[in-house]
This record gives sequence, structure tokens and C-alpha cells, in this order.
Amino acid sequence: MVLDARRCLSYLTIEQPGPIPEAFRAPLGDRIFGCDTCQDVCPFNRTGAPSPESTRDFATDGRWASVTPEALVAMAPDDYARLAEGTPLARPGAAGMARNAAVVLGNTGARRHLPVLREAAAGPASEAVREAAAWAVGALEAREPDAG
Ligand code: SF4
Repeated sequence: MVLDARRCLSYLTIEQPGPIPEAFRAPLGDRIFGCDTCQDVCPFNRTGAPSPESTRDFATDGRWASVTPEALVAMAPDDYARLAEGTPLARPGAAGMARNAAVVLGNTGARRHLPVLREAAAGPASEAVREAAAWAVGALEAREPDAG
């Protein structure tokens, strides 16, 4: 079997810094960082429920308790760096996560998300963020034609 990393949602949302190719944006759904469906479906991982001890290190980080995709789209790089410090979430950086969040909002958001997306599309963010935000605006407007 050959895995083409260019088609892997984890690669596209974590490792590569440019725009997420359009064909992979809808399949991304609400995944904002990585995918790991292959871990869920791998038969070698079907060994019963993990013990609490083995999952303790994977407990939700309190810093992220109230962080929304909308907030990530507009988050300043320094704020994101503080949020992600010491975790794998630092890897895509603020721009990568803003890009991912914009795509997720295009897939799952609502008209209340249009202002932050329009601002990101027109603002000083990286080209990948501006392009993803503009795509998300178009996706939301197509889904909710009266969104204005
Ligand atoms: S299932 Fe695995 S290989 Fe496939 S997109 Fe998700 S992380 Fe990548």
C-alpha cells in the first residue's frame, strides 16, 4: 500500500504551510488540526478501552477550553504562540491554524461567522489565510444565500 501524504488531512492541516487544496476542504469537515481516522480504523488499535493512566497525558489542556474556530481565525501570532507553547499545536503556527479554522467555518459555520471571515479575507494575514477565509465566505454565502 502507498500513502500519498499530499492527500492526508493531517499533513495538509499540520505540516504544509500553503493553501489547503480546494478538493480537500469539504472532506476536512470540522477537523481543525489533523485527522487520525487511520488510528481509529486500524485493527491493531482495537485492544479494548484504554486505562485512565494511559490517557492522563492526553487530557484537555485548560488553555484551549474556550478557544473557538472564530477566535483562531482572528488570533494574533503572539497569543497563539502562548496558547500552543509546548504542544504539537505549535507546529502549524498561528497562520496555519487560522487557515484551518477558516476552512472549518466554511464547512460548519453560520452567517454569524461572516464578519470575522470577511475581515480575515481582507486583512494583513498570510495569503493562505486570506484565501481560505475568502473561500469560507463563499461557501457560507452559497449555503445561506440571504447572508448578505
Ligand atoms: S485517515 Fe490517516 S492517512 Fe488518511 S487523511 Fe486521516 S490521518 Fe491522513
